[in-house]
Amino acid sequence: MTKINTKCVQAGYTPGNGEPRQIPIIQSTTFKYDTSEDMGKLFDLEASGYFYTRLQNPTNDHVAAKIAALEGGTAGMLTSSGQAANFFALFNICSCGDHIVSSSSIYGGTFNLISVTMAKMGIEATFVSPDCSDEELEAAFRENTKCVFGETIANPALTVFDIERFAEAAHRHGVPLIVDNTFPTPVNCRPIEWGADIVTHSTTKYMDGHGTAVGGAIVDSGKFDWMAHADKFPGLCTPDDSYHGITYAEKFGKEGAFITKATAQLMRDFGSIQSPQNAFYLNLGLESLHVRMPRHVENGKAVAEFLESHPKVEYVNYPHLPSNKYYETAMKYMPEGGCGVVSFEIRGGRKAAEAFMKKLKLCAIETHVADARTCVLNPATSTHRQMNDEQLKAAGVPAGMVRMSCGLEDKEDLIEDLRQALED
Ligand SMILES: *Cc1c(COP(=O)(O)O)cnc(C)c1O
Repeated sequence: MTKINTKCVQAGYTPGNGEPRQIPIIQSTTFKYDTSEDMGKLFDLEASGYFYTRLQNPTNDHVAAKIAALEGGTAGMLTSSGQAANFFALFNICSCGDHIVSSSSIYGGTFNLISVTMAKMGIEATFVSPDCSDEELEAAFRENTKCVFGETIANPALTVFDIERFAEAAHRHGVPLIVDNTFPTPVNCRPIEWGADIVTHSTTKYMDGHGTAVGGAIVDSGKFDWMAHADKFPGLCTPDDSYHGITYAEKFGKEGAFITKATAQLMRDFGSIQSPQNAFYLNLGLESLHVRMPRHVENGKAVAEFLESHPKVEYVNYPHLPSNKYYETAMKYMPEGGCGVVSFEIRGGRKAAEAFMKKLKLCAIETHVADARTCVLNPATSTHRQMNDEQLKAAGVPAGMVRMSCGLEDKEDLIEDLRQALED
């Protein structure tokens, strides 16, 4: 199977003769064995199989295998949310006393995870602008740096991450690049092809695509040579006492070590697994991802172009508009388009934005993005309402700013809704 469209529909699960056509939902917490020896081999990681759904479940593994195939990786796992995916991806290689270099333009939840919660665990971070100079990027690395992190298209800033550049810097320092590829999805960008080592997702967004189930995923490229930097990654390159002294990078190789360790240690201890029922819903979304993404892009682009020409609009932020500062980078990594999320600033600040939001009929007010139904959010009067106008401006979310996630409706209807809402 080579083409991405076919992978969306069929990868990850091939039923045998007379078996269910659709991925079965294995709604079972546990699995039965004939002998204790059989089960013992699973606990020793000597055989692969299932024993308890807190760690692994067959439904999840079929869906994770599909996402790994879409990203061009060697192994994948599902998590209960995008937050859990990013935490596991980072914590699998960073421990107390380590350091992360991260793009400053990332999802607020991830920024909080790294800058507050992981800091409490003794893991420090240096944030650099995705547009930083080579000197700034170089200066961000330390002796104890263990990875570099960024988002292909950042939520909500819509900056574009120069994956190749950050991958080269990471590899020069002997550490992997982790990329959160939630917004473009592998249909529009495959970070591994540009040098990323680990890819993460909030599957809650386009992959699910219908606002149905919260979830996350991690994919390993299988390319990072942990043993070549064994001193930096003792968790992968020295024996794990909690599994009778196995060394992940030796036993499972470059292709399997990262995901096996994350499953065997982090899933075991934190239990942030996706429910098999949610994995089933996620797979339904994935089956049409390649059909939906081009429509999200088409609608996003049409809306961005309409807004750019509207006198009531101060500016429009959409990476695939030729006027955007990230246009060239966006076209390099995502020639078919990025996603359906557009942000724009309405002239007249908070009051004008509030009036605009009230008049919308088709576009719903939600704190969500990347769903089949178009939704809008004015941060100043919702998620960021504790900030005054000056603070909002400093944070890059002026009071008149609206984030719009274009769904799968007819683009002319969306534009008509915007047109009437922008009228006096
Ligand atoms: C939403 C989002 C997350 C967090 O995912 P949840 O599924 O809500 O936990 C992480 N990264 C990006 C880019 C997101 O948009």
